[in-house]
Amino acid sequence: MRNNDLKPETLAAQAMGYVDETTGAVTPPIHLATTYERAPDNSYPKGYVYTRSENPTYGLAEDLLARLENGAGALIFSAGMSAAVAPFMTLRPGDHVVAPTVMYWALRNWLLDFTAQWGIGLDFFDVNEPESAADLVQEGKTKIVWIETPANPLWDCLDIAWFAQLAHGAGARLCVDSTAATPVITRPIEHGADLVMHSATKYLNGHSDVLGGALIAAKADDWWGEIRRVRTDHGMVMGPFEAWLLLRGMRTLHLRVRKASENAQAIAEHFHNHPKIGSVLYPGLPTHIGHDVALRQMEGGFGGMLSLRIAGGEAAAVKVAANLEVIHRATSLGGVESLVEHRASIEGKGTPVPDDLLRFSIGIEDLGDLIQDLEQALNTL
Ligand SMILES: *Cc1c(COP(=O)(O)O)cnc(C)c1O
Repeated sequence: MRNNDLKPETLAAQAMGYVDETTGAVTPPIHLATTYERAPDNSYPKGYVYTRSENPTYGLAEDLLARLENGAGALIFSAGMSAAVAPFMTLRPGDHVVAPTVMYWALRNWLLDFTAQWGIGLDFFDVNEPESAADLVQEGKTKIVWIETPANPLWDCLDIAWFAQLAHGAGARLCVDSTAATPVITRPIEHGADLVMHSATKYLNGHSDVLGGALIAAKADDWWGEIRRVRTDHGMVMGPFEAWLLLRGMRTLHLRVRKASENAQAIAEHFHNHPKIGSVLYPGLPTHIGHDVALRQMEGGFGGMLSLRIAGGEAAAVKVAANLEVIHRATSLGGVESLVEHRASIEGKGTPVPDDLLRFSIGIEDLGDLIQDLEQALNTL
């Protein structure tokens, strides 16, 4: 069978079916070369020039990402943040951006600075009233509508198809930060998105040992070419070793995401009515604000991210985190190990995150061990 006929899960497991032509090796090599030989006629017959633009080790990871997201092309970046800022760096003074109030905190702060510095308009819509975004888009002026779904760390779910229609009606592009969903659960391009962004540091790599980002485009158009130029000009590329680790991590993406989702769903249901929990925020719970939207655009699970609001407020939340023994206190998410974080104290002043909230990245450990750890920490209250 040719690669075109194979399912993304097969392509991921086999690193695009790679077998080395010279040696028969079933894992790809790491291409460390920064530069590539020209032919006597001065051309580059193999298509590679210089590693700030392209490298065969990036290429394999990018081909797989394009297939996983059903896109026309993919680019990997040195960080999720570099992937996220690249589309905005193609904008001109006078352009306009619409984004949600609840989104990845560092990107929100960067957007505020960047747009102010370059004379670009920026409006935030309230994630609790997503329809209000319709009043903010300006036909011909708005160039990017940005959403994140499920959105850190309240896990509101935004309707990708609705936002795609809104953006396209105004002549804008819809970009979706799909880090928490992963292509295993949601493929935004299939719902009308123009661009998908991932912090590859999270689920795509999955082992908390690579910093990286990715963009996947629905169409390989002129704008995609500009985004590629931004990456090349600024050298926002991953090193070949990191790109290789990312590809290796993606070989188990489907298994990891399914197990983390199963664990998170079971934990959400277990603690849903717990006397020491104010509320469980998880898209897989019918009581969750985003559940209806989640049912339309998430499949095979609702992801590994959930938040618990602890009855008793901030001090109680911090105490629960302090008493966890199996789940580690650390920032980041999407690794095989479970992590907990008190987000309000990380985000600081002006955060929309309640101070009684603990964010959990649920890993692939034994479910009973995780539940027992949470139970014993809650019992210290
Ligand atoms: C981590 C994260 C980012 C930023 O990615 P880095 O790899 O840390 O630069 C962006 N969006 C979301 C949702 C994230 O979780």
